[in-house]
Amino acid sequence: MVDFDRETFRESRRLVGRLRELEARPAPPTVLAGVRDRLGLGDGYATFETPLGPAYVAFVRSGIRMVDLADTPADFERAYRTRFGREARRVARLPDALERGLREWAAGRRASGLRFDLGGLTEFEQAVLRKTLEIPPGEVRPYAWIAREIGHPGAVRAVGSALHRNPIPLLIPCHRVVRSDGQVGQYGLGDEAKRAILAAEGVDVSALETRARSGVRYHGSDTTRIFCFPTCRHARRVTASHLVRFRSSAEARAAGYRPCKVCRPGGEGDAGSDQPPAAPRLF
Ligand SMILES: [Zn+2]
Repeated sequence: MVDFDRETFRESRRLVGRLRELEARPAPPTVLAGVRDRLGLGDGYATFETPLGPAYVAFVRSGIRMVDLADTPADFERAYRTRFGREARRVARLPDALERGLREWAAGRRASGLRFDLGGLTEFEQAVLRKTLEIPPGEVRPYAWIAREIGHPGAVRAVGSALHRNPIPLLIPCHRVVRSDGQVGQYGLGDEAKRAILAAEGVDVSALETRARSGVRYHGSDTTRIFCFPTCRHARRVTASHLVRFRSSAEARAAGYRPCKVCRPGGEGDAGSDQPPAAPRLF
């Protein structure tokens, strides 16, 4: 760390020296921004297109730190300062890798090429957000699924809080996490925005809510005898004549169905409400 800082300092001095040589012809601001970016000294931000309209994205050298739908650049800068205690400067153009990653995201809504800087979040919050990144576009999972997958099956509410505080909404798709009963639930950018972005990704939101009201939690196929979360790509391939509906994982298992290895349904907490189970079952 010390060596890195010393090297960074030397590099800055060399560059500042070179820029001074250019005094006769003042360096355009983009050169200064380039120097800052190259040294990783600044926090930059720019806008990008989302299904909810233009959004702001802030980044440091190690990755994306924040996304928000602020009204004005000043609002975004203020929100960034409040959250990180640092200034973010608007850049004319995004670093190449980030721009490429955002283009891929826009095309397929998968953030596989993007890097995130989750510093400042707790280990638990980071685990929640990294697990959320595994949910494919067009699919949803319950809060309880995240809790179980990260090894904290009782922490369903804490998962909800961590997602509500997600500093990088849209790119880390917390909108793909819904209540265990299938209701869409809350969203940091607004509940209507959650429905809109899910719809933009191909989720039939009203079907989701109709199912939730009717108590159906899982879909199975009577040919494979596998059950899934209804939005799992495998469940969506099941034709109507082979579709079997289950109200709980226990019901599916009792009927001789196995949980899908891809969407991994069927934890205790998934079957009922968002409340963690009161006590572990002994048998
Ligand atoms: Zn599945």
